[in-house]
Amino acid sequence: MIQITMPLNFLGSVYREIRQALVDMGEMFDLLEQPAEVKDKPGAPDLKVSGGAVRLEGVSFGYDPARPILHGIDVDVPAGQTVAIVGPSGSGKSTIGRLLFRFYDVSDGALTIDGQDVRDVTQESLHRSIGVVPQDTVLFNDTIRYNIAYGREGASFSEIEAAAKAARIHDFVVSLPEGYDTQVGERGLKLSGGEKQRVGIARTLLKNPPILLLDEATSALDTETERDIQESLKAMGKGRTVITIAHRLSTVADADRIVVLEDGVVTEEGRHDDLLARGGKYAAMWARQAAEEDSEEAA
Ligand code: ADP
Ligand code: MG
Repeated sequence: MIQITMPLNFLGSVYREIRQALVDMGEMFDLLEQPAEVKDKPGAPDLKVSGGAVRLEGVSFGYDPARPILHGIDVDVPAGQTVAIVGPSGSGKSTIGRLLFRFYDVSDGALTIDGQDVRDVTQESLHRSIGVVPQDTVLFNDTIRYNIAYGREGASFSEIEAAAKAARIHDFVVSLPEGYDTQVGERGLKLSGGEKQRVGIARTLLKNPPILLLDEATSALDTETERDIQESLKAMGKGRTVITIAHRLSTVADADRIVVLEDGVVTEEGRHDDLLARGGKYAAMWARQAAEEDSEEAA
């Protein structure tokens, strides 16, 4: 009995940890052969992405039904636009990302992509359509080539190279003695935070999804590396629908729209300049972060 339950519990906790990190789940489920908590409807069709418009309509959700996290929120992300979700830690930003992937089902309201409820389509097609750059890209103990190729099964080496060039990691890779065959991860070369994020960007570029979710993609990096990576992220967002979750507001100031989330409620919404002019919560957060950055630069 013990022999059976132990590994299952272990797998369960690994699974939860990975899900929490918002790694690319479609493939992860296969890797762990762990059924998702949420199942496809019998005969569910694949998601058909035309423009990639994402809508949350009156979405409520709690991990524990007794403790709601999101309270009837509306978020509209038009096809091809970039919408930023900002707000204090614990306000429910990453939860929105998890619902987009349908790791959980909403308790009320609906989440749609191009008018299709995520509950009505196959999870495989849903996961294929969304690319994630999380705060920390998870690298496998394998070669750089493998780590990028993971973005799309069967990619050719020239496609891998093109993705690495676009993510501006190619020059670094070819400067290594073993190039793309360099082993990375715990048992190989330790990449810096910025290099890891570039591998993550290359992986996502190779996957070429119409919808991108950036969850604090640069928040673990120092300011200079952040600025640098931010440009690669912006280039990747061209022609795609982007939902960008961020704590540091300087990275989202040029989004098409900014949504301020507080305790699971949308409290403000608009463009950066409008929100500043309004003098509300966003303006206060902006002023506080600008002051912090000034004192950091002076230090
Ligand atoms: P943010 O990304 O804005 O910092 P999250 O969406 O991660 O916030 O979390 C919102 C709330 O949900 C927090 O109170 C957090 O503790 C809770 N939460 C997050 N993940 C889980 C989970 N797997 N189970 C239970 N509660 C969770
Ligand atoms: Mg978060």
